[in-house]
Formats: sequence, structure tokens, C-alpha cells
Amino acid sequence: MIRYAITEDKLNAEIDAISPTWRDRAKDRIETFRTAQKYDEASSMWGEIKSVYRTLQHDKCGYCERILEDKRDIDVEHFRPKKSVKSFIPTNQPPYPYSTGGAWDEGYYLLAYHPQNYLIACKMCNEALKKSYFPIAGTRQQNDDPKQMVSENPFLIYPIGDLDDDPEMLLEFVGIFPKRRYLSGHENRRVEVMIDLFELDIREKLLIGRAKIIYALWLALNKYPQDQRSQDYIHYLTSSSSAHCNCARSFYHLFQQDRARAEEVAGYAIEYVMENRSK
Ligand SMILES: [Zn+2]
Repeated sequence: MIRYAITEDKLNAEIDAISPTWRDRAKDRIETFRTAQKYDEASSMWGEIKSVYRTLQHDKCGYCERILEDKRDIDVEHFRPKKSVKSFIPTNQPPYPYSTGGAWDEGYYLLAYHPQNYLIACKMCNEALKKSYFPIAGTRQQNDDPKQMVSENPFLIYPIGDLDDDPEMLLEFVGIFPKRRYLSGHENRRVEVMIDLFELDIREKLLIGRAKIIYALWLALNKYPQDQRSQDYIHYLTSSSSAHCNCARSFYHLFQQDRARAEEVAGYAIEYVMENRSK
């Protein structure tokens, strides 16, 4: 997971360029929800501005960093659910020794049309895993501006702009596996919940994708600096437009610090790809 840098003004300008009326229509809809005190409409219109997020995120899932090659796999995801919120309890381990906020029937209906409540995500992350979860450490708030809601202390990380922490400051990779940068505190727990909720450490498609990138990067790094094409490829693999670039950057950092260990990790990566090549 990485941050996709953009200011709120620039994001709004990108939306206006796609549809000059969208933000005004969005405000009207929010006022309807405010009166009704719930999200309720016959048809949605966030699909009209999907291309803004596709371009910003380089067609990558905002949570798992896969490149979304099939348009049918690309959802506009509401970071805070517009309808009721379910209680998140990890399924593959004992319950957490801390609260994650519980269920909330109201849902964040005032954010159904807020540009800073959107990102694109793959169907696996959005529909199968995130569903309508939004675990928080604080108290839920009904507000029409995400900037005013930081005291909710969400566990999930919002990757667009600078509303939230930079995901790479909290989450790194050791080989193909995600790792928490902080040893304790809310930052540590955020990554624990992110990994569990999106199954970032066990989804084979992700593990194989990261392993392929690590090996490709290793091959290119071993030609560096003699070969211009290798330099260009290294630059690409560690850029935000490449799949799994947080993992690639973590490996690049390891290569700079400890070349022998990097060679070992690259060896494990290619072994993993070959063992799972039929999947
Ligand atoms: Zn995903």
C-alpha cells in the first residue's frame, strides 16, 4: 500500500474537468440524505468520476496494490461505508485485545458523495473482504467532512492525498510479506488490522505478484549501473505506477543495506514463484 499524492483542490479540479456539475449534484444529494438521516437513492453517480481515481492510482487497487487489468475488477470504494457498518472481528486469529468500534447502523451517509471518501479497489478487497467494515479506535462521528473526523482514529489507512498517514511510514515488506514498522501503539495496530482485514499476508495472488517483482528487481539491480535499460526498469518497478511498489521499495532498500541478504530473499522469491507457477 502506498500514498497517491494529490491536494483536495487538485482532486476537485480533476473531478470538475470530467464533469463540471458533479460536485453540485453531489451536494444536493448529501442534503437529501441529511434530511432523511440515511443513505437512500435509486441510482448512484460516483461511477461518473471513476476515471479520476483510476488515473491517480495508476489503475492499482488502493489496498492490495495489484494492477487492475480487467475493468470489471475496478470498484469505486467508499472508505467510510455509506450505509450500516459491521463489527470487524478477525477470523483467522483470536479477537484483538482492543476495541475496533463495533457495529453502527447509521453508516456514514454524509460521506456518500465526498471525493475524499473514494478510492478504487479490486473486487476482492472491496466486496469480498472490506464489505462494510470500518474499524476505529475512537468514537464514531456523523460528519460531512473527513478532515473533521480524525478523532475517530480509524484502523484502515486512506491512501489518497495527505488526510491520513503515509501508508509506507506504517507498513513495509520483508521479502513478500507485509510488516509493521511500529512495534507498538495505534500505528502498530492499524497495520495489524489492515493485514488481517485485507489478508495481505496470505493471498497467493499477492504473494506471487510481489515475488515476481522482487526477482525482476534483483536481476535489474545486478546489471546496474552499466545498463541504461536496467536503470529505467529499476526506476519503473519502484515508482508508484508499478504494482506492489511498497514491496519493491522495501527490497530496493534491503539491497542497498545488505546485498547478501537481498540475494537470499530474491532466491526465496523465485522459488516461491516456481513452486506456485500453476496457480
Ligand atoms: Zn485489492
